[in-house]
Amino acid sequence: MPSFDVKLNLPGFSIEKSSGFNPIIYDLKNPHAARCPHCGSGSLRTKDRILRLVWHESTGLRRVLLRFCVCKYLCRACGRYFRQRLADYLAQWPAIERIYSFKEELMKVLSAKNQSKKQCRSWARCLLDAIAQLQQSGFEECRKLAKTMESWQEEIARMWRFSRSNGITEGYHRKMKLIQHRVFGFRNFENYRIRLRVFCA
Ligand SMILES: [Zn+2]
Repeated sequence: MPSFDVKLNLPGFSIEKSSGFNPIIYDLKNPHAARCPHCGSGSLRTKDRILRLVWHESTGLRRVLLRFCVCKYLCRACGRYFRQRLADYLAQWPAIERIYSFKEELMKVLSAKNQSKKQCRSWARCLLDAIAQLQQSGFEECRKLAKTMESWQEEIARMWRFSRSNGITEGYHRKMKLIQHRVFGFRNFENYRIRLRVFCA
C-alpha cells in the first residue's frame, strides 16, 4: 500500500500491520531475504525470532514505534548458525552506513574521560573537524547538531579533562521538589525550610 510507505519514510521497507493509538506501532516487513554470511547460501531454517522495538519519527503528537523481527538462522548448506546483523543491513544502505560510522566516531569524542592535556588537544581537533563536517551536511538535523555542539564546545572540552559534575546539587534539588510535590506546595517558607533540613541534612 503506497500510502503506508509515505508514512514510514524508509525506502525499501513496507508496513505489514499497524496497531495502537499512542504510540502507534508499525509492524515492518523485512524486504531483504537473509543469506548465510559464511557461505552465501539462501537455504536457511529459522531457529529463533526476536522482536525489536525502535522509536521512529512522530506523526503529529503521536509517537511511533517500529516493530520488526530479527531471526536466528541455521544454514542448511554449511550447518552454521547466525543472526541477521547490523552489518548486513548497513551494506544494503551505504548512505546510512556513512552516517552511522560518523555517529560512532562522534560518540567516542564526546565520551572521552580523564584525558591528559596533550590528548585533549587531539580530541579538540577531532571535535572541531566533526562540527565542520556537520555544518556542511545536507540534512537539517545535522546542521542543528553542529550548532548545539558549537555552543557547548567549551563544556565538552572541560569534560575530557575533569570528571566533576553537579550531580549532588541536582540530587538535593530533586528531593526538594519531591517534598513540595508530596504536600501539594508549602504556604509557609519557614516550614518548608525546616522540612528540608530534616530530610536532607
Ligand atoms: Zn552457510
